[in-house]
Formats: sequence, C-alpha cells, structure tokens
Amino acid sequence: DLITFDQFLTHWAKERPDRVAMREEDRVMSYAELEERTARVASALLAAGLERGDRIAWIGKNSDLYFTLFFGAARAGIVMAPIGWRLSPVEWAFIVNDTRAKIVFTGPGFDAAEDQLAGKLDHDPQIIGADAARAMIDGARRVAFDPSGPADAVLQLYTSGTTGNPKGAVLTNTNLFALRRNSADLDLPYTRWEDDEAVLVAMPCAHIGGTGLGIMALAAGLPGIILAEFNPDGVFDAVEHHGVTRFFIVPAALQMLLLHPRCASVDYSRLKYILYGAAPIPLDLLRQCIKMFGAQFIQAYGMTETTGTICMLPPEDHDPEGNRRMRSAGKPLPGVEIRILGPDGEEVPTGEVGEVVTRSSNNMQGYWNLPDATARTMTAGGWIHTGDAGYMDEDGYLYIHDRMKDMIISGGENVYPAEVESAIYGHPAVQEVAVIGIPDPKWGETVKAVVVPKAGMTVEPDDIIAWARERIAAFKAPRSVDVIEALPRNASGKILRKDLRAPYWEGYE
Ligand code: ATP
Ligand code: MG
Repeated sequence: DLITFDQFLTHWAKERPDRVAMREEDRVMSYAELEERTARVASALLAAGLERGDRIAWIGKNSDLYFTLFFGAARAGIVMAPIGWRLSPVEWAFIVNDTRAKIVFTGPGFDAAEDQLAGKLDHDPQIIGADAARAMIDGARRVAFDPSGPADAVLQLYTSGTTGNPKGAVLTNTNLFALRRNSADLDLPYTRWEDDEAVLVAMPCAHIGGTGLGIMALAAGLPGIILAEFNPDGVFDAVEHHGVTRFFIVPAALQMLLLHPRCASVDYSRLKYILYGAAPIPLDLLRQCIKMFGAQFIQAYGMTETTGTICMLPPEDHDPEGNRRMRSAGKPLPGVEIRILGPDGEEVPTGEVGEVVTRSSNNMQGYWNLPDATARTMTAGGWIHTGDAGYMDEDGYLYIHDRMKDMIISGGENVYPAEVESAIYGHPAVQEVAVIGIPDPKWGETVKAVVVPKAGMTVEPDDIIAWARERIAAFKAPRSVDVIEALPRNASGKILRKDLRAPYWEGYE
C-alpha cells in the first residue's frame, strides 16, 4: 500500500507517465515530469545543505511550482510551510520566524516579498524567487536520496488564525494520505475517484482545503487543475474546458459563484461532486446551490490539526426538501473516532451538546514549538480537542453548532451564532450576516447581528429582529442589529468574529 509522497510519485510515473499531473493555465506537467522534477527538488535541497526535518517556506499564490517544491521536499523529509499570501508582511514574518525556515520561496508575482520581509526576520533564510526556483530545478542534478518514511513530518500547515495567532500543525506522510485511505474504505460512488476525473485546486495552498486537494489528485493519479487564486470565472472555465469533476470550496466562495452572472449558463455536465466545508453553511445557501449546480454535494468537516476532513455528509443526505440531515456535518469516516465530551470531560449522552474530540491517523504530530498548546489540544490517548461544540444523533451523524469560544451565554441560555445566522440569512435583503455576543449588565451577554445588505437594498434592524423571532426562540433572536458593508474574513473564508466583537468588549476581556 502506498503511503508516502515518494511512493505515490514513483508509482504514477510508472503507471501513468504521460497523464497530466498538473495544469496551471496553459502549462501542463505529466506524471513522468512531476516525478523527475520533484526528485530534482529533493536533490537540490539536499545539495544546498538542508537535512531531513529542516523547514522551507512558500509565500505565494497556488502554483505548480509550489506543488513541485512541496512534493519534492516531502520526498526527502524536508518540511514545507506554505504561508497565506493575503497576510500582511508582518504576519508573513511572524510565520517565517516561527518555522525557522532555511529557505523562503516566493511565488510568481511575489518578488517584492524579499524587501517586505527585510528587517522583520530574526534569522537569515535564503530567499529564492520563482524564476530562480524554476532555474534551480532545471539545473539540478538528480542524485539518489533516502526517502522520508510514513511517520516523518513533511508539511507544516498553519491554522487559519480565526481565534488567535496561527499555530503550525506538523503533518506527516501518514496524516496527509489518511483521507485517501479512510474514504477508499467506504467504497461508495463518491469516494471512488475514477480514472477519467480531474480535480480543481481552488482554495489557497496555505490551507488544507487547497494543499489537500492537490494531494488527493496525486494520490488518485489524476490531473490537478490549479487556480492561482479563487475566482468564479476560473472555476467556471475549469469546469467547462478542463474536465474538472470535483472541487472543494468554502461556503463564502459558493455564494460568490451563485452571485456571478455566468453561473446559470455554465455547462456543468462533467462536474460530479462539489465538496464544501470549513465553516458552517447557511441552509438557504445550500438549498440554492443544490438547485443551481447539476453536481452532487458533499460536506466536509475537519480542521488543520486533523489534516482536514474527518467527517463527510454524503450526497444522499442533501435532500433540499427539508431533510433535517442537511444541517449535519456528516458521519465520521472509517478509521475516525469522534466523541462528545461534557465540561467534566466525560462523554455526554447521544443528542447532547458538548466539545467534539477526535482520534485517527489524521491527527497531527503536534503544534510546532508550542508544547503547552499541544498538551491542551492533544490529550493522552491521542485525542484532539477540536474546540467545536456539537452533538451526535442516534444515527451517528455529527452536528456542529459552533466553536465553544463563540457560544453566547445570554441569561443563562446557550446561543450558537451559526443557528441565528442561518435564520437571518434567509431574509431577502440579507447578503451576509455574523452574530456575536456583546456585554450586557442584565443578561451577561446579548445577541447582536451584523448584517451586510444585498446590493441596492436596505436593511431595517427591527425588521431583522422580527424575522428572526418568527423563526427561532426569542432568546436566540438578536436584540440589536448593525449594518456594515462587508464582514471581516480571513483567507479561509471564515468570519473573524473576534474582530467584530473587539470594540464592544474593550475593557471587559
Ligand atoms: P484557529 O485554530 O487558528 O483559530 P481555524 O480553527 O479557523 O483557526 P482551521 O483549522 O482552518 O482553522 O479550521 C478548523 C475549524 O473550521 C473547525 O474547528 C470548525 O470550527 C470549522 N469547520 C470546519 N469544517 C466545518 C463544517 N463543515 N461546519 C462547520 N464548521 C466547520
Ligand atoms: Mg482551530
């Protein structure tokens, strides 16, 4: 059984040498070429004095160059840390310093990053631009090297930083191919990746929803179609012209597709599955998507620390006619254990809300250089505490309420923002909504909704409050509504509730 990058690359180069491994715009690379170029990357890094366990970093958009460097480094057990290009140079520097990278590669269009990092780094990594990196690979002499083993770290992926500073999750060969293994064990139509498929990498490579899709394409020996960055036209073109059969995007990106004028006229006939996840999806948005796209939908739940997906809601549970399962994040994949723990750390009865904890071969080695955070998140026995609140129903479906930290306690009642947001999202004038708790002398906290109106529409706070009260319990409905132009989101499309909350909580926390 194949379990390392070295094995997959060697295998497909032998089995499918001429098959497209990666396509970025008009540039294509076959599996034979990918194998050769990744071997040269490994050779060049070793020749430059890097050793197994050393870190390299990438600052740039998605690119075939990124995947070639990452896969090549991984073959030799050198750890790639991709850094979100949308972050500020100060944030880049924070992560580069944290990794102690020996080399920082900058992607096409990011030559200026070198100057932007100047004076901000606490060590002296070599910085290599995209042209120089390609020249390095072209000119490298392939040498024999010792391939990394299943338990060796190969990727250091930073968490999205939704709740605090991003933390580097250290992931091994075993972790990165666990999803492939677990879903293959299901052996259902949607987990069988057929030989004529192609996979779109549409989300940023600094997150598991981007890099992970590139890895899934490699694992299945299929073409990975790479979008430098998410944009609706890029997705539509890839579906119409490059035979894309599957992609993963976040709910905020799904909404951008829906709002695009081209959306209704695209030929979706080759598209089979749309995977979505990474944040709660409003039910109404999901219903609209099911109506619009010919494809079948699969929800994924997971986190960076679990190398992405550990639960999947299969296509058959996406019945827009009011199926209550549409609110679920799905069932644990084979090999994944999930438990729901109460505040005392004991498992709660089925149907009760608690903290989601999980154990599987997806679980990271630990956080890089953060022993305390690692000890808090990973307990004895190998369980990861997700920080998410949820419950499990009697059929084994997981329902994610929200992050424990985002739960609002108003007058002793627990309110989960995602449920309130889902209710308000259905309002015809609402484009986006985020719900937060704000301090209140009487109730402890009260519920506030922050609403972005649809273009050309106005939103009346009282109208939103009345709309919510008709749909959810009065204590969950917002007591106040703010109207703003756009919600603060990070590159993973997640609402930064901490930023929305900050002005109200000044002097409290
Ligand atoms: P940080 O840990 O730095 O605060 P983050 O938790 O947003 O950032 P990620 O690892 O990218 O970083 O995201 C994992 C989180 O995303 C999960 O813990 C969960 O809260 C949320 N999430 C993922 N999938 C789903 C889903 N299908 N439904 C609801 N929430 C989801
Ligand atoms: Mg997290």
